[in-house]
Amino acid sequence: MSRLVVVSNRVPAPAKGKVHAGGLAVALQAALNARGGLWMGWSGVSSGAREPGAMTIRQEGPITYALTDLSRKDIDEYYAGFANSTLWPLCHYRLDITDYARKDMAGYFRVNRFFARQLGPQLAADDVVWIHDYHLIPLAAELRRMGVKNRIGFFLHIPFPPPDVFFALPVYATILEGLADYDVVGFQTRHDADNFAACIEREGIGSLKERDTIETRGGGRVKAGVFPIGIDTRGFEKMAADAVDNPAVRKIARSLRDREVVVGVDRLDYSKGIPQRMQAFERFLRDNPAYKGRATLLQVTPKSRSDVPHYLDMQREVAELAGRVNGELATLDWTPIRYVNSSINHSILAGLYRLAKVGLVTPMRDGMNLVAKEYIAAQDPADPGVLVLSRFAGAARELQSAILVNPYDTEAVSQAIAQALSLPLAARIERHAAMLRHLRRHDISNWCDAFLDALATTAA
Ligand code: UDP
Repeated sequence: MSRLVVVSNRVPAPAKGKVHAGGLAVALQAALNARGGLWMGWSGVSSGAREPGAMTIRQEGPITYALTDLSRKDIDEYYAGFANSTLWPLCHYRLDITDYARKDMAGYFRVNRFFARQLGPQLAADDVVWIHDYHLIPLAAELRRMGVKNRIGFFLHIPFPPPDVFFALPVYATILEGLADYDVVGFQTRHDADNFAACIEREGIGSLKERDTIETRGGGRVKAGVFPIGIDTRGFEKMAADAVDNPAVRKIARSLRDREVVVGVDRLDYSKGIPQRMQAFERFLRDNPAYKGRATLLQVTPKSRSDVPHYLDMQREVAELAGRVNGELATLDWTPIRYVNSSINHSILAGLYRLAKVGLVTPMRDGMNLVAKEYIAAQDPADPGVLVLSRFAGAARELQSAILVNPYDTEAVSQAIAQALSLPLAARIERHAAMLRHLRRHDISNWCDAFLDALATTAA
């Protein structure tokens, strides 16, 4: 079997005997373990004003980790700049807050070239290369320029917007051509793959030959497929069942008394719709006063990307909103919104999901949203909670038995919370069983295999 080379912006720190909690890291590690492999990415360390030195190479069993530092300028322009202040908002349909700074665009292409120069000499002729996410779109083009002929696949974890949104990006053509340099480009949903194909066709970079195959202007072929990412479903089910006995989870359950728990879990990010969700919960309490004192929104929101100015504004906005709602509605022994800014580990999170009657997952736009899938896997199948899910999350394409909502429509989300809390047991069981069946069949190792099979069967 050929060696697998994975490239992602960040690489989970190689640590002996440590099992990484993230589903993606576990699945990629399993794939790398099976084939032997190399995982390359940014170490997360800044080399300051100096150019980064040679990569740090570390062997852990059959996996070689190759980590590179980045200079302060690289981090500002490539990571905080173009990746997180331009591509992220643009791909989440937020043209209003997209940053169009040319210097960040230049930094992005420069760092991708740097990654290619670091990676190129490490590659053997029959290695299969799998590159992840929006930070590294031009990497294949840079490797091709260096003469690399290997099979190279790319998976986009975030949404791909329609042409009229994507074309607002000044360097949209270079980015599209960069994607056309891969053998396989994977998307979370059919919608994203169709948007990509529409961009490619409108720009004249290629044309759709048959379902999922694009022929480029130069006669090359790109497979643009749909690979919805999954979770470690069985593992999560077990973790949630075990969490019932976890002392930390029991303590939280006691503190909530027998109140109805509505749970939200999201990085602090404008794409997640956290303020809109809090407003919908407030509306629900005002429209259903019987739930005052009886329902609590437990919102777990670790801070993220605090080096991007827009995220700092959000931190303030959400904290103020939670404060206002609590100030207006709380009583001496009840807080409507428990807003927690720290990050919680999976074994406790699984327990929180399980004790929540409602999983409230209402992003304004999301590539997939793993929290929605984790919430379903964590439920007690004999007495499951109900998932209220934004129709603008990739997960909504698969989890059709959730109560699907438009997150912009506060009234509808408020009604969905009320509906979820009053759904009879038989209906809850039926909805949950259908979704759990799907998640077991389409788990993370399935996703990994499907992508690598697609890459293996393309003509090299
Ligand atoms: N997560 C976590 N602890 C937290 C909050 C989130 O471990 O305190 C995990 C969550 O369980 C999920 C991931 O972070 O696995 C979030 O993935 P998702 O696709 O929902 O959103 P993203 O943050 O990737 O946009």
